[in-house]
Amino acid sequence: MDNPHLKQACYVSGQWISARSGATFPVTDPASGETIAAVPDCGAEETQAAIIAAERALPGWRALTAEQRSDCLIRLHDLMLGNLTTLAELLVCENGKPRAEAEGEIRYAAGFVRWFAAEGRRIYGETIPASHPDKRLLVTRQPVGVCALITPWNFPCAMLARKLAPALAAGCTVVAKPAEETPLSALALAALCEQAGIPGGVVNVVTSRAPEVVGGVLTASPVVRKLSFTGSTEVGELLMTQCAPTLKRLSLELGGSAPLIVFKDADLKKAVDGAMASKYRNCGQTCVASNRFLIHDSLVERFAAMVTSRSSQLQQGHGLKASTTIGPMISRSARDKVARLVSDAISKGATVWCGGPPTGSGLFVAPTVLTGITGEMDLWREEIFGPVVAIRSFWHEEDAVTLANATPYGLAAYFFTEDLARSWRVSEALDFGMVGVNTGMMSTPQAPFGGVKRSGIGREGSRHGLDEYLELKYTCIAL
Ligand code: ADP
Repeated sequence: MDNPHLKQACYVSGQWISARSGATFPVTDPASGETIAAVPDCGAEETQAAIIAAERALPGWRALTAEQRSDCLIRLHDLMLGNLTTLAELLVCENGKPRAEAEGEIRYAAGFVRWFAAEGRRIYGETIPASHPDKRLLVTRQPVGVCALITPWNFPCAMLARKLAPALAAGCTVVAKPAEETPLSALALAALCEQAGIPGGVVNVVTSRAPEVVGGVLTASPVVRKLSFTGSTEVGELLMTQCAPTLKRLSLELGGSAPLIVFKDADLKKAVDGAMASKYRNCGQTCVASNRFLIHDSLVERFAAMVTSRSSQLQQGHGLKASTTIGPMISRSARDKVARLVSDAISKGATVWCGGPPTGSGLFVAPTVLTGITGEMDLWREEIFGPVVAIRSFWHEEDAVTLANATPYGLAAYFFTEDLARSWRVSEALDFGMVGVNTGMMSTPQAPFGGVKRSGIGREGSRHGLDEYLELKYTCIAL
């Protein structure tokens, strides 16, 4: 593949390295099935070297002024936007999303870098009135230390930027491990960090197809003081257990099963726009994708018809083709899971409005709209993570809210209503970390992203996202 950002080496201590063993693993374009690159298959030794590099770089990085660190981040932001087209092309080739979405992701990622460049200059402390006349009580906020960042394949650039930027702004150093499906965007970001003048060892990126080995070393290390992970709930729970013996700080962004409720007083056009936006981005492979559509019984037919019409217009194809508006699934297993869930729903009585179980040999799954969904169907209980609109009807607001909350997950929820009182009432009743009212798109660098229940711990983005990388220090001065 010909791309100026293509790096087929890991970045440790400011050096571009191979695995000690020389082993590599292939990176595949999910749309074509072609191998596009080979990156180092690192193990425990390289991970340990990266941890040591981050530990050595920590004193110098945290000693810089907030302004100096902010300047580095601003340079990184400018480099990301200056290379928008080529970074997006690299992302398309490893992930499969359409070019417009990939460009959107790079802008979104750069937005976090810019946001935290500014927030990092506002790491304020406080003074507390003492109860003793000769004491002065101060609180300062200091970097947590070396952080491990483990990221998924669905937003290979943005999920890393959302962790990296606050970590660096706070004065932390990092060891990042991208998903094995999409390591190239992370390596490209590391190269831009180098160009931005961020000192060697502050940012380290290790690629591996044995994530449990790298994850094992990162979580066991007493040097690593924090883990920030985005991925599946199962792996998040495992990593939390592995972090227990060293009591690390944790940020976990895990699975979701977002409800999208359309009340009878909704503006149907807005609801359909919101459904399309929240469902089909990245071919349905986002943790905030609407998973369970709850539509007022009087609107089901009209809503299904409108969503079907819009879904049928989506153009599947390679993300670099100008006409493409929806790409492939990331992997065979992701495709097979959607096939299983759709077949199960149909066998239990769901009506197919468009699409259906995938039949071809590639990784493409046609946008699918189903009505007549019930709680017995697997797709109601599992995170679909694919382009399937699963519609269940309801009559009463309380039933919709009860059904929406009846999930172990609690990341995002969406609902549509033109009634102001209902919008407050339902928003307060939904047991989710993020609620979109009359919108299907709510993620932005200045707002806190994160979930409750089995969707995770902590928040990313916003001023709260910086606190995840800071420790409070209380100092008591006796005069
Ligand atoms: P998905 O099912 O969406 O691929 P995963 O949770 O498996 O989500 O992957 C998210 C990230 O977690 C990836 O970077 C992956 O390599 C990593 N990962 C998977 N298993 C482990 C593990 N046992 N230890 C550490 N990281 C892991």
